[in-house]
Amino acid sequence: MGIQEHKNKVLEAKSLTIGYPKRGGKPIRILSDLNLEIHAGQVICILGPNGSGKSTLLRTVAGIQESLEGNIDVLGQEVNTQNHKKLASLLSVVLTERIDVLNLTVYQLVSMGRYPHNDWLGRLSSEDRIIIERSLEQVNLSGFMHRDVDELSDGEQQRVMIAKALAQDTPLIILDEPTAHLDLPNRVEIMRLLRDLSTRTGKAFLLSSHDLDLALQSSDWIWLIPKGGPVIQGMPEDLVLNGSFEASFDTSKVRFDPSSGSFQIDYKTKKTIYYEGNSITGFWTMRALAREGFNMVPDEHAANRLILREDPPRWAYLEGEKRMEFKNMYQFIRFIRSF
Ligand code: ADP
Ligand code: MG
Repeated sequence: MGIQEHKNKVLEAKSLTIGYPKRGGKPIRILSDLNLEIHAGQVICILGPNGSGKSTLLRTVAGIQESLEGNIDVLGQEVNTQNHKKLASLLSVVLTERIDVLNLTVYQLVSMGRYPHNDWLGRLSSEDRIIIERSLEQVNLSGFMHRDVDELSDGEQQRVMIAKALAQDTPLIILDEPTAHLDLPNRVEIMRLLRDLSTRTGKAFLLSSHDLDLALQSSDWIWLIPKGGPVIQGMPEDLVLNGSFEASFDTSKVRFDPSSGSFQIDYKTKKTIYYEGNSITGFWTMRALAREGFNMVPDEHAANRLILREDPPRWAYLEGEKRMEFKNMYQFIRFIRSF
């Protein structure tokens, strides 16, 4: 972590064990002895396979369920002992469940975020209104104020929920898989938005995600949960470079590819093809060749090799005196199949 981030500790969890109490039996422990910290302005992403405990951890940190052992404090206040309203002034939560809000306008929903700050009648002050409008602006939904929430797209609804969390005005915002129901452009948009908000507001964002490559790009810090624990922490790039990612997610059929930061189908590549040139053409050729069971190895001096050209893409295959040229991937792959 950077020196600056150490200055403003937002959350600290010490010797935390999370899990589920079992009536008349020993509790089910999901993860034990966690020591975690969150600092102002950080975007922290929890990554791990299904069932590894991401939601359990988020719910525990948010005070929705009790920890089995240890303690969690936000700004020095113990999460487990706060009443609902006090807790709501420390952290806000955006859960995965689809929002079921009939006949509520965007403005009305976002104004619910002001609840911990309202008087007992729930009246909105002029300050509340300023904060609500600012929150809508921050998620680019100012023009949507009077629209019904259930008439918005999934991506817009998610932005409304983030605006509600912003309106709650807490130093920490917790989101369980905020990109789960969204298509790719909207997933990118939400992650970009959270990143942007952390910088602009200094709030800390703790979220879980299945979008490994997006999380790697947009988080400052990762809590990685391999199935069965223990939690591994670090900067995304460090976890990639030291092999923690591969170890946590690899199966026999899917492989985390450190060179692209994404998951690849693990084709059995039995044959090798040498190539020269490194370009977009090369990237897509590599993908097509992987499907055909070829592994591409860079070598400009091999006797038989593929020469890749860009703009327009061209493939030339050299083998001794022979030289064959191809104008598109299909022609080239048809040729390669005859190997
Ligand atoms: P993730 O969010 O990473 O998919 P969860 O936190 O939902 O994982 O679940 C972690 C583990 O806790 C799983 O093995 C799950 O079966 C278990 N679990 C979840 N909810 C309960 C519960 N209410 N009682 C007992 N075990 C639970
Ligand atoms: Mg979950």
